[in-house]
Amino acid sequence: MITKEFDTIAAISTPLGEGAIAIVRLSGSDAIPIAKKVFQGKNLDKVASHTINYGHIFDEDRLVDEVMLSVMRAPKTFTREDLVEINTHGGIAVTQEILQLLLRSGARLAEPGEFTKRAFLNGRIDLAQAESVMDLIRAKTDQAANIAVKQLDGSLSNLINNIRQEILESLAQVEVNIDYPEYDDVETMTSQMLLEKTAHFEQLLETLLATAKRGKILREGLRTAIIGRPNVGKSSLLNQLLREEKAIVTDIAGTTRDVITEFANIGGVPLELIDTAGIRETEDVVEKIGVERSQKALEEADLVLLVLDASSPLTPKDLELLELSSSTNRIVLLNKTDLPEKIELEKLPADFIRISALKNENLDAVEKQIRALFFSGEIEAKDATTLSNARHIGLVEQALDALKEANRGLAMGLPVDLIQVDVTRCWQLLGEITGEAAPDELITQLFSQFCLGK
Ligand code: GDP
Ligand code: ZN
Repeated sequence: MITKEFDTIAAISTPLGEGAIAIVRLSGSDAIPIAKKVFQGKNLDKVASHTINYGHIFDEDRLVDEVMLSVMRAPKTFTREDLVEINTHGGIAVTQEILQLLLRSGARLAEPGEFTKRAFLNGRIDLAQAESVMDLIRAKTDQAANIAVKQLDGSLSNLINNIRQEILESLAQVEVNIDYPEYDDVETMTSQMLLEKTAHFEQLLETLLATAKRGKILREGLRTAIIGRPNVGKSSLLNQLLREEKAIVTDIAGTTRDVITEFANIGGVPLELIDTAGIRETEDVVEKIGVERSQKALEEADLVLLVLDASSPLTPKDLELLELSSSTNRIVLLNKTDLPEKIELEKLPADFIRISALKNENLDAVEKQIRALFFSGEIEAKDATTLSNARHIGLVEQALDALKEANRGLAMGLPVDLIQVDVTRCWQLLGEITGEAAPDELITQLFSQFCLGK
């Protein structure tokens, strides 16, 4: 694999904030010469590769920080270029200062995702792996992080590559049959062979897609709506869910100001709680969380938590919401069970859960039910390879469509060369997942979504 020549880039690779340490990273053929200009300690030309070196950063003769500096020489590095990482003592000002110093010393500020892009361009990782780096950075729960890690080691890419290889072999076989017709009825023979193959590929892709929905949820969150008439305890429930929460991620790009979206990690399932603005708005105003609003939330939600007040008889509005949500993934919660029960149980579906949002009672049963609904058992064991990226899902769906097209054509007795077109398209689409057949603009666009410094 040839390593391409690029200029030397620098960026802060750790999140900006009051971290214990921050890392400023340099990559490129001048990484070590540039580091030498600002570092005082061991001679960086002489130190062994992949060592960490104690020393000081100086701006001319002014001491900036005491640092640990790692030197990693090409090609055994993430970017396959010379890589220098400066571990500073954190503090935004000092870290920024070191970065500025490196930029004045000959490095260029890296674009978002540029380190990972170089790893890709230098053949260190393929596109699906690059994307899983991005997923890993964005992963909202440990489960999602696990999937991203598995993809990073290339298992999705392997699977896709194997399928593509098989498709290619079939296409080659078709060519051979057509070019050397040794049989009486080569057309029928080839169609028959193709039919078996495409059915087989279709099954492989279906299986892959079946894991996709779950993977997508783990990555992007289960869109969850809390609905119920005013005063049943929606806000209280929301607060409990968020309080239980151990790793809330609120800083999601693209969320608009007027729609508050909050994330709760419920036993490894990330819930994206939608329209929480409606739930959070002041309670003394006559709430408009009426049926219309619930209906809209219902349309968008993967999961609905319908809250009822167990301490009072059902109202027409309750019944209407029960009816409206009956065909969605729904959990009916009887809240306020710390009070005497007045709700008519006989009018309810059988699978409700009694809770008290106020007293934080039985919320673990809700967690259990959410897990059961979406994983029907254990999640950890199964996901060897999961398609969890919306782009990948889209491509596999299109590839599957192409195969189905091929199958239809075969069934109708269309000429084999027409079928070949569809099978080739399928092969092409799968190649876009790993980047082997990805157009340049796609690559540029994908990498620009990364955060700075990755
Ligand atoms: P929302 O209008 O559906 O959001 O309901 P709120 O969460 O604002 O709750 C309305 C009222 O019911 C508040 O006074 C809460 O303290 C009370 N409440 C909520 N959950 C419970 C509960 O489990 N038990 C009791 N006794 N009161 C509750
Ligand atoms: Zn409320």
